[in-house]
Amino acid sequence: MKILVVNAGSSSLKFQVIDMTDESVLCKGVCERIGDKESFLNYTKGDKKFKIDYAMPTHKEALMFLLETLVNPEIGVLSSLDEIGAVGHRVLHGGEDFDKSVLVTDDVLAKCHKNEPLGPLHMPSNILCMEILKDLLGKPQVAVFDTSFHQTMPDYAYRYALPDEDYKEMKIRKYGFHGTSHKFVSKIASELMGTERFNLITCHLGNGASLAAIKDGKCIDTSMGFTPLEGLVMGTRTGDIDPSVIGIIMKKRGYSDVTEFVNTYLNKKSGLKGLTGDSDMRAVTELKENGNDNARLALDMFAYRVKKYIGAYAAALNGVDCLVMTGGIGENSGAAREMILENMEYLGIILDKNKNATTRGKVELISTPESKVKVYVIPTNEELVIARDTYSFVK
Ligand code: AMP
Repeated sequence: MKILVVNAGSSSLKFQVIDMTDESVLCKGVCERIGDKESFLNYTKGDKKFKIDYAMPTHKEALMFLLETLVNPEIGVLSSLDEIGAVGHRVLHGGEDFDKSVLVTDDVLAKCHKNEPLGPLHMPSNILCMEILKDLLGKPQVAVFDTSFHQTMPDYAYRYALPDEDYKEMKIRKYGFHGTSHKFVSKIASELMGTERFNLITCHLGNGASLAAIKDGKCIDTSMGFTPLEGLVMGTRTGDIDPSVIGIIMKKRGYSDVTEFVNTYLNKKSGLKGLTGDSDMRAVTELKENGNDNARLALDMFAYRVKKYIGAYAAALNGVDCLVMTGGIGENSGAAREMILENMEYLGIILDKNKNATTRGKVELISTPESKVKVYVIPTNEELVIARDTYSFVK
């Protein structure tokens, strides 16, 4: 069976077609700059890459164009859309309604609409794609929520110390994100450890970044919050910050609307980008190598914040048995991993520096045999989790 995986962002639409007989990726792509004058599709089939300019004022046009591309006789991978057995959607926010993936029904769509205010940038496009494909393809669809893996957190971890009615009336609390990634790598870690009963910290370090503390396979805490803004220093996000600075900066920088300020300034102009002018870890590392002190500071801050969270989660878990590095930075940057994990012998973490330096994008143990904590690099694959969850409903 072939499964279409759809991941709609606020101005992008990522997709893959996966053949579940061998979990091979038949094609993948991303419609970018949706809503912008210069929207285009980046599309990959095998080792061939295409960039196609196409007007996509909304996600609807993007979705229609991607379906057209899938059956395009020259570059497509399907002879007809009927070959798609099911569709798996990454849905940003499940609120408190979903602690696992579900088949998309009218009731599920109604709950997603209710949860729209929790993810105002992503939920409208997530819902639109589910609604359009429901009518257009008439195939089973599965919603895989980025938040559901974290629904096992205890209340003292997910509640904020705000007046009680803020939670009761508005569901203001920590939800956590990157759930499919934390779940995927924690499953592999469990296979490598040969048990389900162990204390694990998973570090998803990419452009967006989060940690999860996982006890016996269940998440007990995670660093992102009500939105993905909380926690680590990220490519363009501040992570943890004292809200008292907001009014001061808004006034000075000419913002009058708090939502606009949070969505643009704190989410898109801060983090590595705010500190150095570049959000990409490779670029910031190169700047540092060329003697740029802002880049040195940004990398120190990035690593220090991750280290602090590891310490906090080791305390929350009452000790760590295993630590996993994943995401673009966690999988590929030996330098970032070393900065984070050096001088943590007190916690039982001893990095094998040679193995760490040479490990990129593959499963590898990078701690020494003496290290009490087993440290693994495990590449994540969120699309595959979505395809597998979807397949489990329809096979
Ligand atoms: P992701 O959001 O998971 O795709 O990760 C993107 C981040 O991974 C960017 O900051 C990239 O610069 C970073 N990244 C990818 N490859 C490398 C690498 N070889 N060394 C350092 N950072 C990398």
